[in-house]
Amino acid sequence: MCVMRRSLATLSVCCALLVSAAAQVTVIRTGKLIDPDSGAVLTGQSILIRDGKIEAVGASVTIPSNARVVDLSKMTVLPGLIDCHTHLADGAHDSDPIGQFKKTGAQVVLESVPNARVTLESGFTTVRDVGTYRALGDVALRDAINRGDIVGPRMFVAGAYVTISGGAGAATGLAPDIPLPWDLHYGEANGPWEVRKVVRQLAHDGVDHIKVLSSGAVLAHGSNPNSQEFTPEELQAAVDEASHFGLRVEAHAHSPQGIKNAIRAGVASVEHASLIDDEGIALAKQHGTYLDMDIYDEECIQADGKNGNMPKDFLEHDAQLGQMQRDNFRKAVMAGVKMSFGTDAGVCPYGESGKQFAFMVKYGMTPMQAIQAATSNAADLLGHSAEIGSIKPGKYADIIAVNGDPLADIRLLENVQFVMKDGKIYKQ
Ligand SMILES: [Zn+2]
Repeated sequence: MCVMRRSLATLSVCCALLVSAAAQVTVIRTGKLIDPDSGAVLTGQSILIRDGKIEAVGASVTIPSNARVVDLSKMTVLPGLIDCHTHLADGAHDSDPIGQFKKTGAQVVLESVPNARVTLESGFTTVRDVGTYRALGDVALRDAINRGDIVGPRMFVAGAYVTISGGAGAATGLAPDIPLPWDLHYGEANGPWEVRKVVRQLAHDGVDHIKVLSSGAVLAHGSNPNSQEFTPEELQAAVDEASHFGLRVEAHAHSPQGIKNAIRAGVASVEHASLIDDEGIALAKQHGTYLDMDIYDEECIQADGKNGNMPKDFLEHDAQLGQMQRDNFRKAVMAGVKMSFGTDAGVCPYGESGKQFAFMVKYGMTPMQAIQAATSNAADLLGHSAEIGSIKPGKYADIIAVNGDPLADIRLLENVQFVMKDGKIYKQ
């Protein structure tokens, strides 16, 4: 099975490389074309792609004589999907809470190579990867993808978790006299100046954004999701220091106070936002803060629980939070808060992020809003609307297609049939 999967993947990559070498110009004929920027569905459009970028889109695009023509006229074409909350560099999907202590950093990052491939092949051409236990493994994965050594989505990475000692992003559960290797506590910081120091180190390491932990966590020993962790002063230090390097900050927060502290400090997005209260929703709206709520992964956590693969304290945290998070998601959507698409991929198996769309629709979004959360909104959150998030001239040719109409049946996005990134076809 593994051999089969590997040989097929290798074949599709080879084809993509051969084709791109032979023809730098591609034209895609579309059936329906979804434009998340306007919320419109266009028909009869063609997309002209040159050197990995979209050059023209329209009903009367002139097709150059040397162009490769890809006929998707029986399909619905969308911009490549963006998952704003992944953990691709955490190794093989594994619910063993001490799994990270059983492998070297090199093993973890090499185990992560298939995570990147299945994510891209499932239609997610970009991810914002929001932290890894072994620091900087995500930087290595991103750079290997960008060099073309391995196949994966465009990655924007955090490098490490910026967290208090013993906090939601710290490696916990070990006796105090067991020393940790450097990369398992790289982002630990207490006090505004230590936070600034860690942010400076991460900026120097080449990260794309900063992940701070503002409350306790569900999937961490001895952690209370209802708590607050960093103080307002520490969160402000993170946002201010990150801004000196042009970096945005996202904050993990479940608790109402942790969420509000992060919004007031000026983070770009709050992750999870499980217990957000009415004041938090109003603040997010006022500050233009995105909520990146992973409302699908509850399914996987409880399934792991039934199989006996999840520690009891993790399940107890989760049972309290799951339904409240979904109800609060609906409230935030109704209030008109900016929403992005983030799944916490790694909690659920990699390559299944598309399953969250149906839950976003079930809990209050229109299908178009759910698609916008994973395209135009996500690109805006990343600060890369000029390059990704819709099919427009000047942007990267990150394009997917499905059979049928995802606006009528959102679950079609669980089975993406065509994937192009940078003008190269990875699945057809
Ligand atoms: Zn996460």
